[in-house]
Amino acid sequence: MECPQLCSLDCVVGGVNMRVKITMACGECKRRNYITTKNKRTNPDRIELNKYCPFCKKHTAHKETK
Ligand SMILES: [Zn+2]
Repeated sequence: MECPQLCSLDCVVGGVNMRVKITMACGECKRRNYITTKNKRTNPDRIELNKYCPFCKKHTAHKETK
């Protein structure tokens, strides 16, 4: 169940917080460039996003890291 408020940090659905804070790291230089949140229920696995890396100066695959 997606939160109707689209809240980012304190969303509690059924007593369980399903939104978790994750860090996205560049797949090439391994630097952590982005912090975002994801819904653990809809994205149980590690996610990967194509994002701009200011260190590589190009778009690279960013992977979820802990
Ligand atoms: Zn990079």
